Amino acid sequence: MMATNGKDACGINGDVPSVSSHCNNDSLVNKSHSAVVNGAGTEASSHSRLQNGGTGAERFTFSPEPTIEDIRRMQAEFTDERDWNQFHQPRNLLLAMVGEVGEVSELFQWRGEVAEGLPNWTECEREQLAQELSDVMIYLVELAEKCHVDLPQAVLRKMALNRLKYPASKVHGSAKKYTEYKD
Ligand SMILES: [Mg+2]
Repeated sequence: MMATNGKDACGINGDVPSVSSHCNNDSLVNKSHSAVVNGAGTEASSHSRLQNGGTGAERFTFSPEPTIEDIRRMQAEFTDERDWNQFHQPRNLLLAMVGEVGEVSELFQWRGEVAEGLPNWTECEREQLAQELSDVMIYLVELAEKCHVDLPQAVLRKMALNRLKYPASKVHGSAKKYTEYKD
């Protein structure tokens, strides 16, 4: 699905081929990837980001940068340079983000359940997913900016509320909704 002016949030032309044909074009993939990271440094492989936090289980971790504020600033520069702020009102950004969620869904469609780490996915399919998740995040961050929501602080507040709503002592190992725990 195309975003504003036929471009994805990261600046990839909306006319890119479908996943399968895209995955057969290494140069296009590399070009697209560089647009996603936008000079923010090379991405570590997923393998190198598996860490054992002393719990005995490996856990995937993110790079510390870019921060959410870095992403907001990079996208603001991107839209300013193209005079696209005239299109990037909150409602349009919300619809664009939902469209990008649809593009993520397409990658999982018809596969059945998928194990953590996507063991049966090709590198190209993983890169496609990385790009579509990035589109979702870029639009999410810009939507928060245009709504004047300080997203990093809002996440802290919401996590605190979630801890109150779902006390670990009550819900451990259960998927029940919070209303089912009320006394
Ligand atoms: Mg996209």
